[in-house]
Amino acid sequence: MTVKQIQHLLAYLGCYTMAVDGIFGPGTRAAVTKFQENFGLDADGAAGEATQKALRHAVAYGMPEKAGANDGQEDQNTGTFWDEIGNFSREEFRCGCKGVYCNGFPAEPAEALVRAAQQVRDHFGAPVTVSSGVRCPRHNTAVKGVPTSRHLRGRAMDFSVRGQSDAAVLAYVKTLAGVNYAYSMGGGWVHMDV
Ligand SMILES: [Zn+2]
Ligand SMILES: [Zn+2]
Repeated sequence: MTVKQIQHLLAYLGCYTMAVDGIFGPGTRAAVTKFQENFGLDADGAAGEATQKALRHAVAYGMPEKAGANDGQEDQNTGTFWDEIGNFSREEFRCGCKGVYCNGFPAEPAEALVRAAQQVRDHFGAPVTVSSGVRCPRHNTAVKGVPTSRHLRGRAMDFSVRGQSDAAVLAYVKTLAGVNYAYSMGGGWVHMDV
């Protein structure tokens, strides 16, 4: 790659904000270093073979999460089972500590759990509200969850279905093959785990 091409890619990735002038000066070196740090490469500021390969990869597939160059989260779920989930997003399962104790996903929501949620949504044809999905240990303690709670492993959720009683929801949930355990929390809310 020419220096200009490297500058273009760095600019595209949000690492470089100066002129694309084809001169490998201090600004370009700093941008390369920043990119290397974000990509977990040796941060030597030199755009060698490995760095150029990583640049092409980053442009094609996006930067790793910590880079912060891709603020848009729309594509986050692409290429996973989430593609087949019509009514839930990963965000709905985020730990309720609101970032106080964890980054929101100390565990990933289990595929079987999300698929069960979608079955509930499809069966009742009504919106499902998730009040608790994944939990970090400290949040789990704060909400008085048992230490062995499946919420800790992304395998449990508490939810309600608009217009349905918890008894009606529970009765249906218990027919789902993938569900391990479910109980009524009262007031329209149901816990289920896989
Ligand atoms: Zn948390
Ligand atoms: Zn629960």
